Amino acid sequence: MSLPGSLFIDGTWQDARSGRLLHVLDPADGSLVVAHEAAAASDVDRAVAAARAAFEAGKWSGAPAEERAGVLRRTADLLVRDREHVALLETQDTGKPLRESRVDVDDVVAVLRYYAGLALDDVAHRVDAGPDVDSRVVAEPAGVCALVTPWNYPLLSVAWKLAPALAAGCTAVVKPSELTPLTTAHLVALLAEAGAPSGVVGLVLGDGEAGAALVAHPDVDLVSFTGGTATGRAVLRAAAATVKRVHCELGGKNPNVVFADVDVDVVVDNALHAAFLHAGQVCSAGSRLLVHADVHDAVVTGLTAGAEAIRLGDGRDERTQSGPMISGAQRARTEAAVAGALAEGAVLAAGGRRPDDPALADGFFHRPTVLTGCSRNMAVVREEVFGPVLTVEAFTDEQEAVALANDTVYGLAGAVWTADLDRADRVAAALRCGTVWVNDFHPYVPGAEWGGRKQSGVGRELGPTGLAEYRELKHVWRRRTPGRSGWLG
Ligand code: NDP
Repeated sequence: MSLPGSLFIDGTWQDARSGRLLHVLDPADGSLVVAHEAAAASDVDRAVAAARAAFEAGKWSGAPAEERAGVLRRTADLLVRDREHVALLETQDTGKPLRESRVDVDDVVAVLRYYAGLALDDVAHRVDAGPDVDSRVVAEPAGVCALVTPWNYPLLSVAWKLAPALAAGCTAVVKPSELTPLTTAHLVALLAEAGAPSGVVGLVLGDGEAGAALVAHPDVDLVSFTGGTATGRAVLRAAAATVKRVHCELGGKNPNVVFADVDVDVVVDNALHAAFLHAGQVCSAGSRLLVHADVHDAVVTGLTAGAEAIRLGDGRDERTQSGPMISGAQRARTEAAVAGALAEGAVLAAGGRRPDDPALADGFFHRPTVLTGCSRNMAVVREEVFGPVLTVEAFTDEQEAVALANDTVYGLAGAVWTADLDRADRVAAALRCGTVWVNDFHPYVPGAEWGGRKQSGVGRELGPTGLAEYRELKHVWRRRTPGRSGWLG
């Protein structure tokens, strides 16, 4: 496997110049997929300069909205053409089962088409400001954007940023995680093939150093970041120096609340999916299960059997239900979190170990793990593990359930399971998070905003707001007949 280059600047693939090699590993067996040189700060400078020049030249920001929409639509069509290849790349990079990677590709196609449609809406509105005045508010592109993305949903997270940024008329430099560069590089190539003018989309493949240089760059107007909360704080600090607009999608510790009036089998099946999708490495994972005491034991029995039955394997094997974790380091963090939980008194109901299958020994696998007897003073309940670990807590009434659910510094997503739709509405209103699912978990649509409250983030992706994030509003006040102000006599 080879990459066309580790940099895409001004419409050409180039090699980086840091002198430091990065190794991309296949998490299913630890083998080397590709090695490339990391972007240096000087490479980031060149990429930003190209994006700045393209923005100022107006060949994209000033192009008719229909032209920008056309590029997004053609990119979506090209992605449909390359669907299987891109899904395979995503699985090779992230370890997730092919079935999940195909869903990611389809979702990205939908997002590109959604923002192609919204690109045509320039949201200008007029204000009645008197007979001699034309007052209008127009939307303009925010400028040069730094788009920094994580390793769990590489293709999806870059598309959630690039599609609205390009629809708005911005130019962008993208920095994917060093662990998962493959599909982002492919998407950038497809955008060029679809007719995005040179300089409009740049790519730098590098590690946190390149990310830090990019988000601090004085010629960047806006930063959109998805990743860990600690890195998010560093990004906010770096952006403060030149008062950039910042959008952050950070971690989560998402409550999944189960009342007693449910079909236990259905809830168990969904709770396993909520917690263990992509080996739990999902910002919106339902990692905290809150269960009414009346059904607690039945739910735990179902979870234990279900978690132990999950088939781990290489994501390219169609029988695989759950793939490896992204890296040895991420698995080690998970193992430490489980050990800490047991030391604090949690009870291991399932998992808590690497798989026994020798065929998986070289990959970064960890068995889906269920911990019961958990309480909110335990680190495993408070802190994001970002691995296949589900904690279970019991509650006795609605008020207690809501208090437990909201007792977190995060606020990304949450869910409630009940047959009582009035109660569902009350709990949905009381949860302090950006998304609430009722009797469901994980679905999203391009037209509905996504993002977090509290330490889960700032701003929203998707929906009309996801486009507004990349636009600046300008009020133009035009007086037809100039006259004296009358203030100074
Ligand atoms: P990071 O937050 O470090 O990585 C996200 C992106 O930011 C990557 O492209 C990374 O580059 C880049 N980056 C790293 N440091 C900086 C910096 N100072 N300035 C700008 N960009 C930077 O996530 P990790 O991969 O280290 O994961 C750490 C934890 O974050 C996970 O354990 C998990 O808890 C959480 N996480 C949350 C995600 C979410 O969707 N909410 C997604 C991924 C992680 P590079 O990877 O090349 O270092």
